Amino acid sequence: MTDSGQTIAAIATPAGQGGIGVVRVSGPLTSSLLQSIVGRVPAARVATLATFRDATGDAIDQGIVLYFPQPNSYTGEEVCELHGHGGPVVLRQLLQRCLSLGCRLAVPGEFTRRAYLNEKLDLAQAESVADLIAASSAAAAHSAARSLTGEFSARVNGLKNGLIELRMHVEASIDFPEEEINPSDRSAQTQALDALQKQVQQLMHEAGQGVVLRDGLTVVLIGRPNVGKSSLLNSLAGEDVAIVSPVPGTTRDYVRATILLEGVPIHLIDTAGLRDAQDEVEKIGIRRTWAAINQAGAAMLIAEAGEMIGTAEAEILAKLPPNLPIVWVYNKIDIHAQQASRRGDGKDTQIRLSALTGEGIDLVRRWLLETAGWQPSGEGVFMARARHMAALNDAIAHLEDAKMVASQLDLFAEGLRLAQNALSTITGEFTSDDLLGEIFSRFCIGK
Ligand code: GDP
Repeated sequence: MTDSGQTIAAIATPAGQGGIGVVRVSGPLTSSLLQSIVGRVPAARVATLATFRDATGDAIDQGIVLYFPQPNSYTGEEVCELHGHGGPVVLRQLLQRCLSLGCRLAVPGEFTRRAYLNEKLDLAQAESVADLIAASSAAAAHSAARSLTGEFSARVNGLKNGLIELRMHVEASIDFPEEEINPSDRSAQTQALDALQKQVQQLMHEAGQGVVLRDGLTVVLIGRPNVGKSSLLNSLAGEDVAIVSPVPGTTRDYVRATILLEGVPIHLIDTAGLRDAQDEVEKIGIRRTWAAINQAGAAMLIAEAGEMIGTAEAEILAKLPPNLPIVWVYNKIDIHAQQASRRGDGKDTQIRLSALTGEGIDLVRRWLLETAGWQPSGEGVFMARARHMAALNDAIAHLEDAKMVASQLDLFAEGLRLAQNALSTITGEFTSDDLLGEIFSRFCIGK
């Protein structure tokens, strides 16, 4: 899909009108393209005022040009950026001019993919570029920035180095007969394994917080009309604006709203439309909603204090995936002269509150954050993905296997090697093309 022999171009700024707009180019045609458009190759890394011209010599725009010779650029290739005025027509003309000079339109994430292939970034850092751009809260942006600067990768690399060192010791002793191996060496090796295992677990714990920040918790919202669902959402969202359709570029038509609690996105799936499907389109909508419900992390059932839930709601409740944590929220305690309270834990919790007065809202807030796996000490979190968690999990499993067979040196060494490979998939040394395609296709064009 990506051919680094080709020169790619894209508009790197968002669509619409803005102060400036940037066309970015990367690849071997960059210098000749600059000659054609601005009449020269400007000094490296110096902002230079220039007129951008079309094939007949007419001005398309006047702006700043930046030139980055290989390899000191974002992609590691020859790169230029043409900073023109931020109008859609002028930017399209400028892009068209680049394409007519032999560039190809970049596919999403292709600049960053080239940066990764040219070892400007490792894979975890490249992923954090997309996460930083898509961050929906300051906490998420902060943790993505930490991953981008390499803190997460450094931790993973530290673990890999520990494993490599241990493997060297173990593999060196494989060639000796059992009786020649100093027993204290063997016990040092198992101690080193224990220490590494603890470190992987710690990293997994910290990365888990990053996953929560990035992906949040999807909650199914169930309740009759007028029980106070909207009021509860508004009250939960507090000062934070409820964001509708939070994830750019994805269709989440079944999501009613996303609210941020401590920077953790809580996506609420509305079940109001699940009742009466008349036509084919509605039926499709219902299927999609159920597919989303089956992936959800929790359900919130809202009823009025002192009332039963309706039959439609009971039917939905009966069809929820087994083991889904559920919180029963009894609203409007203010008109029933009840106290705010919480009973039960985790999977089956009951909370009494008033969305109107705000009494008891904190109890729901806390339950949601608990269920999402959030912990208050959010400092020091770096952005991580489910993919990273799976790799850390694999590494832990291989270390566990190694421990079980610690007396057989060759099997012990093999377990260590597999653990090291699992960690390497995070930073991208062992990664299939398919996975790369999947990761970078989710980027925006021009990044
Ligand atoms: P939804 O249809 O479930 O989204 O319900 P709404 O949030 O629109 O609320 C329905 C009505 O109940 C509105 O008039 C709200 O002001 C009222 N309401 C919501 N929560 C409370 C509450 O805690 N106490 C009282 N007294 N009224 C409430």
